[in-house]
Amino acid sequence: MTSLFPDVSFQEAFPEVKSFRIEYEHTETRIEPLGVRNGVMTELNGNKELRCKWHRCKQGGFAIQQEILTPLVSKGETTGEGLIFCHGHEFLDKRNKPSCPNRLRYRVFIEYNDRKE
Ligand SMILES: [Zn+2]
Repeated sequence: MTSLFPDVSFQEAFPEVKSFRIEYEHTETRIEPLGVRNGVMTELNGNKELRCKWHRCKQGGFAIQQEILTPLVSKGETTGEGLIFCHGHEFLDKRNKPSCPNRLRYRVFIEYNDRKE
């Protein structure tokens, strides 16, 4: 099996990145209000995603590396912000699986290792 996204860590894929910081907020009114809506991320877990907070979401998550970090790092950007969508779905019954409504608003700051010119 070959994969478009080989299973290497973020640090292995982008050794030029010294550190990053992602400030995020879940933005969808249907999310349980008692849940933690905001947070900060400074490292990636194994699947490079942030779990979706919507309790009825199945197989959801936010592709932090693929949708936020990779595009910015490949352009050498140090900051960025935007909105990404959860790739999961709500499970209502076997045939009714609407897309998850959860979104993630983010701001990201990336620090690079010194580069030799
Ligand atoms: Zn979701």
